[in-house]
Amino acid sequence: MAKHYSIAIDGPAGAGKSTIARALAQELGFRYVDTGAIYRTVAYFLDLLGISPKDVDGVTRYIDELTVEIEYDDQGAQHMIMNGMDVTDDIRSQDISQKASLVSAHAIVRDTLLDMQRAVAKKYDVIMDGRDIGTVVLPKATVKIFLTASAEVRAQRRLEEMQAKGSKATFAQVLKDIQQRDYQDTHREIAPLKQAKDAVKVDTSELDIEGVVAAIREIVGKKIPL
Ligand code: C5P
Repeated sequence: MAKHYSIAIDGPAGAGKSTIARALAQELGFRYVDTGAIYRTVAYFLDLLGISPKDVDGVTRYIDELTVEIEYDDQGAQHMIMNGMDVTDDIRSQDISQKASLVSAHAIVRDTLLDMQRAVAKKYDVIMDGRDIGTVVLPKATVKIFLTASAEVRAQRRLEEMQAKGSKATFAQVLKDIQQRDYQDTHREIAPLKQAKDAVKVDTSELDIEGVVAAIREIVGKKIPL
């Protein structure tokens, strides 16, 4: 079986993972897999059922009733399908960000989603972004990158992104959400957010998008022909 290339990009919320991964995936002709969207879909499903993301019994009881699928449209954009329904836009709220962070701490959730993530990487060349791709999901990824930036810079970027979509969120609210998720994601017991030993760290605080893309291209180019 032909082996596929895989690029793992991990890092905290708002580090610019998806922007970079999307751009690079297009350039390389790889499939971009936004794994955060999968956890968001689980959170959204449970939220619709009125299950608290902290309620492990409730989560365990209902997770089997959920089918999550990833589909790609003609432009290569990822769509999240929850029990046959496209929820791509519904999972982007700050409320769901928080709930995804809480729900993703449960072993039952992580175990359920592990195979589907690995299955995509078995089938295609992928750029996968998340929190545990280089450490857990694809420990043998061809390239591993840990993308980070200060919480303030990440909050400002996220705010601008949200404002462009018409959100009225304030800097303080977005910063608080980011700090809370950083804490939860790095302190959970299972698959916490951390840099894989063999990952290359890129701090994007002082870089613009072009600068980040150039830095990542250089790292990727050492292992994969560009
Ligand atoms: O990347 P995004 O902000 O969409 O992820 C939402 C939440 O999903 C994160 O705060 C994190 O708790 C969780 N997540 C995870 N593992 C991943 C991707 C996301 O635990 N691989």
